Amino acid sequence: MNLKSHLLPEEVFSAVAKCATKINLDAYVIGGFVRDIILNRPSKDIDFVSVGSGISLAKKVAQELNCKNLSVFKNFGTAMVKYKAHELEFVGARKESYQRDSRKPIVEDGTLEDDQNRRDFTINALAIKLSDDGYGELVDPFDGVNDLKKKIIRTPLDPSITFSDDPLRMMRAIRFASQLNFDIEANTFDSIINQADRIKIVSKERIIDELNKIILSPTPSYGFKLLFQSGLLHYIFPEMIALHGVETREGKSHKDNFYHTLQVLDNISENTNYLYLRWAAILHDIAKPPTKRFHKKAGWTFHGHEDKGARMVPTIFKRMKLPMNDKMKYVQKLVKLHLRPIALVRDEITDSAIRRLLFEAGDDVDDLMTLCNADITTKNPNKVKRYLTNFKKVKQKLVELEERDKLRNFQPPISGEEIMKRYNLQPSRIVGEIKNEIREAILEGKIDNNKEQAESLMQEIAKARGLEN
Ligand code: ATP
Repeated sequence: MNLKSHLLPEEVFSAVAKCATKINLDAYVIGGFVRDIILNRPSKDIDFVSVGSGISLAKKVAQELNCKNLSVFKNFGTAMVKYKAHELEFVGARKESYQRDSRKPIVEDGTLEDDQNRRDFTINALAIKLSDDGYGELVDPFDGVNDLKKKIIRTPLDPSITFSDDPLRMMRAIRFASQLNFDIEANTFDSIINQADRIKIVSKERIIDELNKIILSPTPSYGFKLLFQSGLLHYIFPEMIALHGVETREGKSHKDNFYHTLQVLDNISENTNYLYLRWAAILHDIAKPPTKRFHKKAGWTFHGHEDKGARMVPTIFKRMKLPMNDKMKYVQKLVKLHLRPIALVRDEITDSAIRRLLFEAGDDVDDLMTLCNADITTKNPNKVKRYLTNFKKVKQKLVELEERDKLRNFQPPISGEEIMKRYNLQPSRIVGEIKNEIREAILEGKIDNNKEQAESLMQEIAKARGLEN
């Protein structure tokens, strides 16, 4: 197969070919870029491998492309050239050998064949020749093109060696299966099952990178089911395993919260590509197992799972090396509030309940509604219709009240400073209490959200507390 016409941008590949000839090296484009050409997927980063020094080739290519953006990583024997929107990675062909307790290989110079042998999957081991004799020719020693056609993830060598050498590859297999909607070949998958515990030697940072890619794939439940079946999920995310299963007592069963969560995740993925909104879907019911109770009359309950779930979020984020910043707070907020719109729908929709929701959710109220919509997983079409109609009503009310009361990013109409100045107070509890009373009155709809009405209420409160005659 010749893929010459797909080697774009053309100037990049012809520059690499020209420089390789000049310094007498064989050069190839290899890995994900080649795979994505055949799959017709856009891909920006291009990996080159040369039989000989990758760094020397990178230096020449940077000169040829008139490109100042060259980074050399001497310790790794690699170099990177940034050219327009592309990152061009250069490495010399290498042979790798591994020790049992580390995923860092001992590296020696090698041939193209050695280099292809060290790749993780047949579909990632494809190379295209860039020298004059055979420019554009595909080098496919493991029948990777056929696997692309058959939509199969398979290791080039014995999978038990490939995965034992670098256990991160087990996560990568599932990540590619989920991103590309491929199957994992039976032998390869069996090997993952057999070696799942070796994931322990991989750093949390690498694991979360792959997990986030699974979460961002088109139907993430597929990736999670593979993680579950392979046993990897038990090591990386035990809280999710705890969601799995149905318990029945006295003829009463609860739903399987693992599959429910995956359904919610798939539902939300149809409406958002925002990683942390997808994380909120994953974690919304995470505290159902620790809050589960059985009552003779009521059956199964999960009281307070939203609050406990919100408290679990930082612990899970920290352990998994997810960011402990506003993104964590955002997920925490959505987990905490995820039942509120449903409660609104069940009860009479009062203005004050909507105002409170607007006040607490702030700018994230739309994302909260997206989460609640995704949380409807009942198979009963009448129920779905009823829930959706009710949510529409809630949304409508939210818009109306927001237009009127501007509560989304609530700023108290009278600040603590103003209260202190007016009544000659030091910072103290009473200042907070007056502020709270004013805020409550606004949320309850007793006064409007404006300075004038807040002022007169403040005077009333102050009088009642003996601060004003
Ligand atoms: P994407 O850009 O979507 O992540 P990719 O295939 O380009 O896909 P990279 O992680 O950039 O993935 O890796 C580039 C190439 O390097 C892969 O195609 C594969 O050939 C090789 N590779 C990367 N990681 C490993 C690994 N852990 N073991 C073996 N080969 C690997």
